[in-house]
Amino acid sequence: MIEVVEPASAEVMAEVPRAGAEDVDDAVARAKEAFPGWRAIAPGERAKLLHGLADALGERASDLAVLEARNAGKPIADARGEIAMVVDCFRYYAAAPERLLGQTIPVGGGIDMTFREPLGVVGLIVPWNFPLVITSWKTAPALAAGNTVVLKPAELTPLSAIELERIALDAGIPEGVLNVVPGPGSVCGRRLVEHPDVAKIAFTGSTEVGRGIAAGAAGTIKRVTLELGGKSANVVFADADTEAAAAAAPLAVFGNAGQDCCARSRILVEREAVDDFMAALERTVKSMVVGDPLDEATQMGPLISSSHRETVASFLDAETRVAFRGDVPEGPGFWFPPTVLEPTTNDVRAAREEIFGPVAAVIPFSGEAEAIELANDTIYGLSGSIWCGDGARALRVARAIDAGVLSINSNSSVRVSTPFGGFKQSGVGRELGPDALDHYTDVKNVFYATG
Ligand code: NAP
Ligand code: MG
Repeated sequence: MIEVVEPASAEVMAEVPRAGAEDVDDAVARAKEAFPGWRAIAPGERAKLLHGLADALGERASDLAVLEARNAGKPIADARGEIAMVVDCFRYYAAAPERLLGQTIPVGGGIDMTFREPLGVVGLIVPWNFPLVITSWKTAPALAAGNTVVLKPAELTPLSAIELERIALDAGIPEGVLNVVPGPGSVCGRRLVEHPDVAKIAFTGSTEVGRGIAAGAAGTIKRVTLELGGKSANVVFADADTEAAAAAAPLAVFGNAGQDCCARSRILVEREAVDDFMAALERTVKSMVVGDPLDEATQMGPLISSSHRETVASFLDAETRVAFRGDVPEGPGFWFPPTVLEPTTNDVRAAREEIFGPVAAVIPFSGEAEAIELANDTIYGLSGSIWCGDGARALRVARAIDAGVLSINSNSSVRVSTPFGGFKQSGVGRELGPDALDHYTDVKNVFYATG
């Protein structure tokens, strides 16, 4: 059994059977058997089933939010927002079966047409930081395109995925179309990656595990989507509304206790604005409410596990000094205070590696060229923000930063209807928006000779 721990209390909240490689094989076999029937359902009928699933998830939204808040240690208000996004995601892709359009292409001697064909059985491997949201980003387009799914949630957070499987069955999604195998990545994840009957792996997680998945997928030439780590920049120019930027900056890095691939954990601030910015940041960080995820007022919960807390703490090393930090509750739970380091350079470990916890490095810069150079001086390229009073400059900088998802005068990273994914070692492929469907289908070209 897997003992599922609640991070805010450090107590076991549930036990679920731990799947092994043979359970993955069974799930793949069920998904393979279900595939011909699922792809053959008329597009309008598949759309109705997905709308039905969205409705059913909407009806269960408040219990799912509590489950997710407890299991992942995230503030209930955030968890509610995430479940709302899960519902929106299934609804958005419910429109897709009837919009998977091909082309007709002018050629000599006949008619040439293209079709977007489903891939077959797809393996989905998801992390613990946004368990059901990231599951929906993959499951919804995969099912909409006519694939069947074997989903491996993170061992630390399997509960919402197990609920999703039950809810899908109750909503009329046929048996075998969506199969959940909660088990360790090194066993169940690996088996999915190697399995000859799995056509594609869509993975979200660390760059390190992602490298192994890309290598493992090569054996059977699987399609792969990788959403990996980040070390994103929050670039603040002196002509920006520094108060607004400082008020928004904590959530851009301390949201989900910093366990966010989009965390803007490098705050690049134009040199003349550093003192004002640090003063404003200190006010907002010290007023952050860290505590019980189920309390409506909570803005930041605990970290996911005790061992992850040790990893995060290891970034406070001899190279850096803490400028200021927030408070944490007493008692059990894997608490770590929101922490801002004294202004430093881009060369320290805390500025180079993904911390995945509530630790922000402020890095001063002089002028636009240096801002771009520093923002790009990383192996990652996932997201970032630009705070700037000059619209033309903001757009110039946005075009020059090598990252997949940028926002100007805003922290936002993710919308269901727009593409999300990384440049460089932050990943391959895109999720969400219309682009995701390209990654769950192959294009088929058919020529019909008309004589
Ligand atoms: P992780 O350690 O890479 O694990 C992610 C998933 O992969 C888990 O389900 C894990 O299973 C599984 N896994 C582990 N080893 C595996 C293997 N050898 N073969 C196949 N699967 C394997 O990541 P994490 O610690 O859960 O999450 C944090 C990371 O995710 C961060 O780097 C973060 O940036 C990244 N992330 C990226 C995005 C994005 O969209 N770009 C979004 C969120 C998070 P078990 O844990 O159950 O063993
Ligand atoms: Mg991990």
